[in-house]
Amino acid sequence: MSLLIHNTLSRKKERFEPIDPHNVRLYVCGPTVYDFAHIGNARPVVVFDLLFRLLRRIYGPDHVTYARNITDIDDKIIRAAKKEGKDISVLSKRYTDIYNQNVKDLGALEPTIAPRATDHLPAMIRMIEKLVNSGHAYAAEGHVLFDIGAMESYGKLSRRNREEMIDGARVEVAPYKKDPADFVLWKPSTDDQPSWDSPWGRGRPGWHLECSCMIEEHLGTTIDIHGGGVDLVFPHHENEIAQSESAHGEPFVRYWMHNGYLNMAGQKMSKSLGNIETIDGLLKKHRGEALRLTLLSAHYRKPLDFSDELVRQQKKRLDRWYRITDGAEACEVPQALIAALEDDLNTPRALAVLEDLATPEGAGELKAGAQFMGLLMQTNEDWFKGRLKGGATIKLEVTGKLSATDESIDALVDERIEARAAKDFERADAIRKQLEGAGIEVEDHPDGTSSWRRRD
Ligand SMILES: [Zn+2]
Repeated sequence: MSLLIHNTLSRKKERFEPIDPHNVRLYVCGPTVYDFAHIGNARPVVVFDLLFRLLRRIYGPDHVTYARNITDIDDKIIRAAKKEGKDISVLSKRYTDIYNQNVKDLGALEPTIAPRATDHLPAMIRMIEKLVNSGHAYAAEGHVLFDIGAMESYGKLSRRNREEMIDGARVEVAPYKKDPADFVLWKPSTDDQPSWDSPWGRGRPGWHLECSCMIEEHLGTTIDIHGGGVDLVFPHHENEIAQSESAHGEPFVRYWMHNGYLNMAGQKMSKSLGNIETIDGLLKKHRGEALRLTLLSAHYRKPLDFSDELVRQQKKRLDRWYRITDGAEACEVPQALIAALEDDLNTPRALAVLEDLATPEGAGELKAGAQFMGLLMQTNEDWFKGRLKGGATIKLEVTGKLSATDESIDALVDERIEARAAKDFERADAIRKQLEGAGIEVEDHPDGTSSWRRRD
């Protein structure tokens, strides 16, 4: 057992050694809940869910603490709530619930803790006071700013020079800043913005501060692994380090892990290109497991070129695996699969191990290995009938297919069996055509019965 992790701090693969093997601590930045999360946000969820599963296997399920936060106070939420004329708590609750359901549909285990930023205001104010008192932060015009000049190692994670930092942060050059790269810990709120009392007047925290405080409160001052998308390295994670290390005088994170970008058909997802796909929208046209397998198909540090075609290919792969493992009992998780994942979560190699097992002889191991990765979790019947857990059927809104309920399909299939038995072949053919038009394939069996499956 030896887990290797690529550490963004050293830019090297390192052997993972937890601070306390009885309590391995992992933190991943969660969503800002102001809108539907896009599929790019799903990549860290699935990648670090797999890491969570692996850590639980290595150290025991009770010896791993995984926190993924909810950012429920942010200027984006304030703007969106104002636009809708709703309270920010209404908006953040709505999108938190949707997010939680979406990531569940992607097969992600619940994290041990899902802290919300708004529950941690006292801790945030305490940390700012500490930073002001130690000379790492200063108050100016209702704001409190982190003074990057007071921290010699600032920039060690992203390895940027000063000019790159100012460009990268797209910082406002405000007159009250000592240095344009100084970042906000606290800012004043106007009367129509959410606010909390503080020694610097009524206001609200900066985003970077939220994660530093939630980590301190739930996981401690030094944690084992901090994960997130590569877009968070700078400024978000750089600033988390600045705050936490200056406040506590201890190393903040031992291993930093970052997943690569998700591109949409070769292009960066962006509002201006109009190519943003939400997790919720994609779950209406694809099965969660097919999306999960797609997100795991590339190595987590490499860019992933996402497309509907890629998801369809992975769905076909799962169809094949479901057929092979039909009736098979899951046995031991194959050691070669664990070895691949222990090598910096090498999922392409892990999936190649499963592919090698995709034979009648390998079915038990294929099932165990796939289930370890959160795949093949449905019964064959549910999978092929397109049923989701909880009884809902998958909705293919895009093609307009599969809108029929299981019950109405069953009734038509039964009617067709009766028509055939009565030798009314014209009626039987008409029903078959009707079902085919709705995307349902009917298979007749020698004993006179028929089964059906959704084609998608
Ligand atoms: Zn964060």
